[in-house]
Amino acid sequence: MIVGEAAAPSAPPRVFIPSARLAADAQRVIAQYPQKQAALLPLLWLLQREKGFVSREAMEWIARELSISAAHVHGVVTFYHMFNQAPTGKANIQLCATIPCALVGARQIESQLCERLKIKPGETTADGRFTFKKMECLGLCEHAPAALVNETEFGRLSVETLESFLAQALKEEPGPFAIAPRRFYPAPGFAPMLLKGVGSPGGSGLAAYRASGGYAALKKAIEMGPAAILAEVKSANLRGRGGAGFPSGIKWGFMPPDPKIPKYLCVNADESEPGTFSNRIVMEEMPHLLLEGILIASLAMGIKTAFIYIRGEYVQAHRALGKAIEEAYGANLIGKNILGTAFATDVVLHRGAGAYICGEEMALMESLEGKRGEPRNKPPFPAQRGVFGAPTTINNVETLANIPLVITMGASTYKGIGPEGSPGPKLFCVSGHVKRPGLFELPMGTSMRDVIFTHAQGVRDGHTLKAVIPGGASAAALLPSEIDVAMDFDSMAKAGSMLGTAGMVVMDETVCMVDAATNITHFFAHESCGQCTPCREGIPWVHGIVKRLFRNQGSPEDLKLLANLFPQIHGKTICLFADFALTFLESVLRKFPQEFADHAARRPCPAQAGGPGAPHRA
Ligand code: SF4
Repeated sequence: MIVGEAAAPSAPPRVFIPSARLAADAQRVIAQYPQKQAALLPLLWLLQREKGFVSREAMEWIARELSISAAHVHGVVTFYHMFNQAPTGKANIQLCATIPCALVGARQIESQLCERLKIKPGETTADGRFTFKKMECLGLCEHAPAALVNETEFGRLSVETLESFLAQALKEEPGPFAIAPRRFYPAPGFAPMLLKGVGSPGGSGLAAYRASGGYAALKKAIEMGPAAILAEVKSANLRGRGGAGFPSGIKWGFMPPDPKIPKYLCVNADESEPGTFSNRIVMEEMPHLLLEGILIASLAMGIKTAFIYIRGEYVQAHRALGKAIEEAYGANLIGKNILGTAFATDVVLHRGAGAYICGEEMALMESLEGKRGEPRNKPPFPAQRGVFGAPTTINNVETLANIPLVITMGASTYKGIGPEGSPGPKLFCVSGHVKRPGLFELPMGTSMRDVIFTHAQGVRDGHTLKAVIPGGASAAALLPSEIDVAMDFDSMAKAGSMLGTAGMVVMDETVCMVDAATNITHFFAHESCGQCTPCREGIPWVHGIVKRLFRNQGSPEDLKLLANLFPQIHGKTICLFADFALTFLESVLRKFPQEFADHAARRPCPAQAGGPGAPHRA
């Protein structure tokens, strides 16, 4: 417009008018948090539930409701992958493309879907029936290849059954591809201790849990009192199951004992490490076990509010936990005067929205406060200044699921399970090229060979083991000659890798390691929060080089470039994400140098018998 010229008449600004239900739900949600802004992600989910997407006008409405800027709301919406900013097709197909699914055919399903629907990833069909998106790990690895369609999880997809899947995807009710049969396998010779109620006729409900002795540990803990609970957990030497293995009792002991100080427990249920799904199964099958652990932990630390931060992709687990929380409030197990005593704690279920980095504890707290999930600098540590500025303990789901067991059996008996340095039962996830992918509860310290070859029944027929990622995609790969290792924190570190989340991804001889590294570096490049230059720029750069090598478009100079890049990234960032992003790649560069040399020389590597695009590839 020329200065001084009269403005052309324009349409009046559109204003979002919420439905009565949405407005009421929004007020109920806001009241759950000590700061209004923390209700941002829940409000975005409510909006998406009602409208299918989050419009600009709706963002402005949320900004007004929470007394924050629309720019902030927009910044948050664009950070998380699960918020739709435009209408999607009737069936919003989100196909997992990460390594556990890629190993068993996700790539072939992707190309068939694109061909069949005549769209590319990210597009919607002209008739508005389908949107197709590629997603990073959905945490459904034992059901791979997997997809999320709107709010229903689908597993064991195949090219052969694609038409049936598409028909099912358009239906409101889940059908044969929706995940129903569980893949938790009790191990011969070891009676489950954590997941002992799985498969009981009463399902995951409160009555069934109580019938199997559930909430007796809480009653005992109330009688013991906070100091004795803390002493028992310390004595049990329960080490955090989220990956770091830090002793839980010591962590709890960092919290200030003054009961007048507001304190919080954050339950890290943002399990997003590719190959890991144990927390999901605990929440789906034994939600009351987690709640009981939360209540005992809250009692020990004098906590009045616990937040469960669950990853957005876990729709079944979210439903199961929501139902269990309702049941527990109704039975006077959560809330005021728990079991008729003065003990009182609230539990709030908070859904993330698709951002791997929110599993990092400092990012989780930012996200819980209604911000982008960008990790904070340490110090201050969470026990000094955590969520909402208050002392906070962050515990993993499996860690808390162990607490009722510690209280019930006592520390001395608990310490008798597994090795002295890392006692207790452990949930092992196995996916990839095994005959029986699934979850196995075994003593900590069980040999990796046993888990893979006895419990998961070994690699698929006619194939041989090539490598194992032992603890999620952040862990260094192990060779077949290295799998006679006890799966506990200390032994795995000595073996040059880490227990991590005990999410094992098994690869047979058909996998090209340059291909696998391309997939894993893509995952991390996609998930960087973007705060630190070495991570934001460096990881995509590394990914680009590996991808170039994989496509036989690189050169030996690329291998030198990679070696020069690693030290520019390691130890130069706010959080450990960037270091872990490189671990798998660095390990396969060391262990499979010939494959990288072949690709750099633009020759087929041993796993490339079929040439580029061969169907056996990761
Ligand atoms: Fe974000 Fe990466 Fe920096 Fe961590 S290392 S804060 S993920 S940019």
